[in-house]
Amino acid sequence: MKISIFGSGYVGLVTGVCLAARGHDVICVDINKERIDLLNTGFIPIYEPGLDRILKKSIKNKKISFTTNSKKAVIESKLIFIAVGTPPAEDGSADLQYVLDVAKNIGDSINAFKVVINKSTVPVGSQKKVKNIISKQIKKRNKEIKFSVCSNPEFLKEGAAINDFNKPDRIICGIEDGDKKSKKLLEECYKPFIKKNNDIIFMKPEAAELTKYAANAMLATKISFMNELSQISDILNIDINEVRNGIGSDSRIGYQFINPGCGYGGSCFPKDVKALIDIAKKNSYQPKILKSIESVNKEQKNLLFKKVDSYFNGNLQGKTFGLWGVSFKPETDDIREAPSINLIKSLLKAGAIIKAYDPVALESLKQIFPKTQNMIYTNSPENSAKNAECLIICTEWNEFKEFNIITLKKLLNSALIFDGRNIYDPDYLKLKGFKYFAIGRGEQSPYIK
Ligand code: NAD
Repeated sequence: MKISIFGSGYVGLVTGVCLAARGHDVICVDINKERIDLLNTGFIPIYEPGLDRILKKSIKNKKISFTTNSKKAVIESKLIFIAVGTPPAEDGSADLQYVLDVAKNIGDSINAFKVVINKSTVPVGSQKKVKNIISKQIKKRNKEIKFSVCSNPEFLKEGAAINDFNKPDRIICGIEDGDKKSKKLLEECYKPFIKKNNDIIFMKPEAAELTKYAANAMLATKISFMNELSQISDILNIDINEVRNGIGSDSRIGYQFINPGCGYGGSCFPKDVKALIDIAKKNSYQPKILKSIESVNKEQKNLLFKKVDSYFNGNLQGKTFGLWGVSFKPETDDIREAPSINLIKSLLKAGAIIKAYDPVALESLKQIFPKTQNMIYTNSPENSAKNAECLIICTEWNEFKEFNIITLKKLLNSALIFDGRNIYDPDYLKLKGFKYFAIGRGEQSPYIK
């Protein structure tokens, strides 16, 4: 099937590459010429495990191409996916400008029946907005061309995106009542990815749009709940990990998304919770749980700094800190809304010197914090920790979990760790002579007086 995908970012690129690998003919469109030029030479502008190999294979098999020419892409394809960004606007609502720009492009070029499929995370009612814009542009051209617009939110996780796309828990498709043609085309498009009949769920477009926000808000709720519990654990001198095992073993609860930490970040949870709050408010409902998820997370993102600052009695001026991990989670170079950003801002404001290390995300971080005397970028965990006053961990990369603790002790000025991801065993670290402050591990955290 001939498919075009607007937006070659984390979602668009993975979608394009996975569809091409299963035999579809894919055109990826982006307005970012630099990105398209890079992709045309076989280079990937983002870090996503496994993407490189499949992309190169699809290019070799001539199953995927990259262009900035939106008109050509629209004309040549039967299905048109929209996978552009929907960042938060100042009031917290989802900024739809990129989605609506694509809709306008489609309306300006559409020449025959197409199915437009929105994969971006968008507020309820966006399917209708996209449809209206395309219709308006067609009318302006004095043409009568049939098309339909569906909602098909994406649930992939950065860092495991290829596997998530290839083996989805479910595919959500929002189609208008009676739109059999779109249903058939969507089923055909996703056939290689469907194992059981109920892997693809059809519903109304509005329900599909809300489903995406509901899923992310639910996951963010689990995280914020656990983070709140970790604060209680710290005060009560209880190890949150024991509680986690205790509740995770309940099949109604499960182990996923109940790891306490220094807050959730990324391009999805923060903006999607905000957008859902905005959707509720615009419909005259004041959401209580959603607002709490946000405020718990805001507090949690300041927790590491609070712990470090109170340990050093508010005197961080000129002190050097090793920082391991800046991406919002492991296996990605994405630093959007990462807790490391809050920490770095606060440390720099307090006059601290930071020696940061991350396996893949330092280039992204440099866009926010250019290299200075106080903001130092290092090329290894060793160089980051060397002669530092203490080590602070913001991302749970395996490389850090496996690091030799004895070597670490020799590198640091003092055996002191602030761990925002609970990657070590506190008893073992104590045995090796470390002071170890993590999240809710029952140690009397320095800021709890
Ligand atoms: P991204 O910022 O990585 O990529 C968006 C791309 O769209 C950019 O390359 C940009 O240049 C391009 N673009 C903007 N306007 C365009 C236009 N008019 N025509 C063509 N290209 C255009 O974004 P992302 O992380 O891939 O997210 C895309 C959407 O998917 C968002 O709505 C997001 O919420 C949702 N989503 C993201 C994830 C994730 O893990 N990143 C997961 C599920 C859903």
